[in-house]
Amino acid sequence: MPYSNVIVIDHPVVQTKLTELRDKSADHRTFRTLLNQIASLMVYEVTRDWPSEPRMIDTPLEKMEGRKLSRRVTLVPILRAGLGMSDGVLRMLPDARLGHLGVYRDEKTLEPVSYYQKLPPDIAQTEVLLIDPMLATGGSGSAAVSVLKKAGVKSMRFVCLVAAPEGIKTLHDHHPEVVIYCASIDRQLNEKGYILPGLGDAGDRIFGT
Ligand code: URA
Repeated sequence: MPYSNVIVIDHPVVQTKLTELRDKSADHRTFRTLLNQIASLMVYEVTRDWPSEPRMIDTPLEKMEGRKLSRRVTLVPILRAGLGMSDGVLRMLPDARLGHLGVYRDEKTLEPVSYYQKLPPDIAQTEVLLIDPMLATGGSGSAAVSVLKKAGVKSMRFVCLVAAPEGIKTLHDHHPEVVIYCASIDRQLNEKGYILPGLGDAGDRIFGT
């Protein structure tokens, strides 16, 4: 089923790494490495249409006009699993600031509970990448987008690894203009809110808990 405002990054290198990472035999070191590598690769697609402007430089031989990104960048990983993609994104966007949002899912109600936020003071003037490997129920993602909107953010993209149809629907019911970038749209959620076929608990697999 086609989704509007969802971009699936189906590059074969990304898909190969995603398959290795999903495999339950991948230990936390392998999982973490692959997740960061995929996050780095995804940056190319996520930032493809960002504005850039001229920048004059001197090469060793002569002056030339190059390009630079026009806007500053803020990454906002949703704690804790979002941290697993931050280094990979930062490798490609090393000047980015980092904000943090703590949102966890109540295991009984599956509702998001916000417990921590620390954002750069000028976040409203920056391009924001909201990062969470799993878009499952969409509750945490949607709550995080609301927090960023309240902070004045105008331009943000949601970057995840695996999205469930239910999570896409919830996020877009509340925030239809936010473009979702993912490496896969999986089949469905199970009764505990895990994505199927998914990859299990991303936080546990990243941190070895
Ligand atoms: N969070 C995870 O880590 N995995 C899922 O499948 C769903 C939510």
